[in-house]
Amino acid sequence: MEYEAVIGLETHVQLKTRSKMWCGCPNQYGSEPNTNVCPVCLGMPGTLPVPNEEALKLTNLTGMLLNCEISKRAKFDRKNYFYPDAAKDYQISQFELPSNIGGHVEFEFEGAIARVSLNRAHLEEDVGKSFHFDKFSGVDFNRAGVPLLEIVTEPDITSPDMAYAYLNALKDILIHGGVSDCDMEKGMVRCDVNISVRPKGSDKLGAKVEIKNMNTFSGARKALEYEIPRQIEVLESGGTIPQSTRRWDDAAGITEEMRTKENAHDYRYFPCPDLMPLEPTEDWLTDVRSRVVELPLARKQRFIADYKLPASDAETFKNELPLGDYFETIARKSKNPKAVANWVINNLRAKMTESNTELNTLKFQPDSILELIDLVDSGKISSKIAQDTFGEMFTTGSSPQTIVAEKGWVQESDTGQLDAWCDEVIAANPGPADDFRNGRGAAINFLKGQVMKLSRGKANPAMVGELLEKKLKA
Ligand code: ADP
Ligand code: MG
Ligand code: ZN
Repeated sequence: MEYEAVIGLETHVQLKTRSKMWCGCPNQYGSEPNTNVCPVCLGMPGTLPVPNEEALKLTNLTGMLLNCEISKRAKFDRKNYFYPDAAKDYQISQFELPSNIGGHVEFEFEGAIARVSLNRAHLEEDVGKSFHFDKFSGVDFNRAGVPLLEIVTEPDITSPDMAYAYLNALKDILIHGGVSDCDMEKGMVRCDVNISVRPKGSDKLGAKVEIKNMNTFSGARKALEYEIPRQIEVLESGGTIPQSTRRWDDAAGITEEMRTKENAHDYRYFPCPDLMPLEPTEDWLTDVRSRVVELPLARKQRFIADYKLPASDAETFKNELPLGDYFETIARKSKNPKAVANWVINNLRAKMTESNTELNTLKFQPDSILELIDLVDSGKISSKIAQDTFGEMFTTGSSPQTIVAEKGWVQESDTGQLDAWCDEVIAANPGPADDFRNGRGAAINFLKGQVMKLSRGKANPAMVGELLEKKLKA
């Protein structure tokens, strides 16, 4: 029988706030264990949570970026469980009334635009992190109480590659939107992968297996690539898949069963009596809406449509937001945006990396790139000279006009001068000249190169080519 995979993802993302969700402790990675803590995030009896306004705003901002419906009324619930990483013995989350409902994410996948529907994007708090040593274990509560957004998809994803593409698209949106830094190495993004298989074309869902706490996207993809054939094999051999939670063992490349049957009612959710429901006002929503940015995919599509850029250039500007913004301020004024993209991607970016320079400390004016392109397009300088001019402009900040004038780099189109250079080169290279005369057309490139060298790059290359040919054919 043929089977198809059904995948749904629950992605946890740390919000980019200065302080934690309910207290003033810093939301900061890499501190000594248990130094960013206080009675509130350590769950001491008698303490009360005070919501972090910025976290609430980022929650709704995410909802807007992900096309969710913003709830008119959301509330916090307690998810009760007993585990060393939860000092309160419960986690504050939004169960019944999440802040953002529905929504979708669109992204490029296998040559088309794919869409994954979302179920919700709700706010919760992170918990501590356990560490296991030789003879004991420890818990670091620095992360406890850090605001987390949980973004839950519908079971819309059909392959491990699609899951991987979705996760990357989601990460791009959240980084561009300023919601989270999504630094995987700092554990800012973790996802639970839910997966079932069913006979191809069936409309019934199979029991789902949840693989918890994947902290890399490639790990999530690998786990799915392992789990799908495993489930198919069990079904094919007459077995059944129980609803269960499994763990991904990255070293061994397999999943292992942790527990079966775990349902929402196991957590005895109930409304958190310490926190008021959230009812965003119009002013609040207007303020949050003013922070919504263009989505990466829309930006890429717009760059292709408006500036006729090749997809690869538009992709670069999609991924490198500040560089894309810089490009656009120049491209808007240019008749030749494609050339602007070339300069920005191939020259500027390379020089910036080489010299460790940031966009905001560039010495030259953005308009200098326009000027440089005009000098090339009008035939005043060759593209070789343009490279040198750009180098000068990058280090000194002078305008291309000034540089070209000062260095005497204006392209030589005076036929008298070009004539003399060509004659000199032909006389000095009788071998290649004869080769050309005897029908080896490519020999002219060598001669042309010699003229360019003799002119120190100033000769107009098109004119040199024509002149040489005329002289050798005479
Ligand atoms: P739970 O209540 O156990 O958390 P949810 O219904 O909230 O389950 O779903 C959690 C995630 O699992 C969602 O991303 C959802 O799309 C996905 N999911 C639900 N059922 C299935 C299934 N049968 N196969 C694959 N994924 C599923
Ligand atoms: Mg769930
Ligand atoms: Zn604290």
